[in-house]
Amino acid sequence: MRVILLGPPGAGKGTQAVKIAKEFDIPHISTGDIFRQNLRDNTDLGKLAKEYMDKGLLVPDEVTNKIVEDRLEKDDCQKGFLLDGYPRNVTQAEELDRFLQQKGTYLDCVLNIEVEEDALIERITGRRVCPNCGATYHIKTSPPAVDNVCDKCGAQLIQRSDDKLESVVKRLEVYESQTKPLIEYYTKKNTLVNIDGNKSVEEVFEDIKKALGDRGK
Ligand code: AMP
Repeated sequence: MRVILLGPPGAGKGTQAVKIAKEFDIPHISTGDIFRQNLRDNTDLGKLAKEYMDKGLLVPDEVTNKIVEDRLEKDDCQKGFLLDGYPRNVTQAEELDRFLQQKGTYLDCVLNIEVEEDALIERITGRRVCPNCGATYHIKTSPPAVDNVCDKCGAQLIQRSDDKLESVVKRLEVYESQTKPLIEYYTKKNTLVNIDGNKSVEEVFEDIKKALGDRGK
């Protein structure tokens, strides 16, 4: 099963991605997570990515494409993969098509999670993450049991620097101008399925499972 998760920042892609990867036993590849891990490890890639991430801008295509392709070459991607946050523009999508074609493979499904725009800013700015185990919370809709403390590992929760309002506004603009055209791109290729992301996490997941059917299981 080879799947892409599309949707604006705050649509719940990360939350659904974890569930899909588990259900279908495929690796979850999040370019945002890869950049953040590099940032924590203080690598040159992390330092470069930070310059763009903090401003809400996209990391250059050549850098991002290379990271994804190296990851897709790994053995665990033979059985399929779930891409979360990639591709982010038409150039990346074309490069992914070229890469997959060269491998003699193809995408099974592009899930496009749709959420009312008004809800996005509140969802993102209220998000808190655990820097230790990666668990995510929302100060209003899914707070931890103890304020600012991770339920799973007890670490102090943080707000991602790019989840602050200035970056969020820019990220939404970048989504509108660069990522949204992918909806038309994949519609034309007949691989796109729209998912109503305004529902609860469990309802969205049920709809996703229906959309993916039993393919690849
Ligand atoms: P995300 O966690 O997917 O919201 O990504 C956080 C940030 O990482 C984005 O705002 C970009 O700066 C960068 N990023 C993630 N994925 C990509 C991508 N496919 N292309 C370029 N930049 C990306």
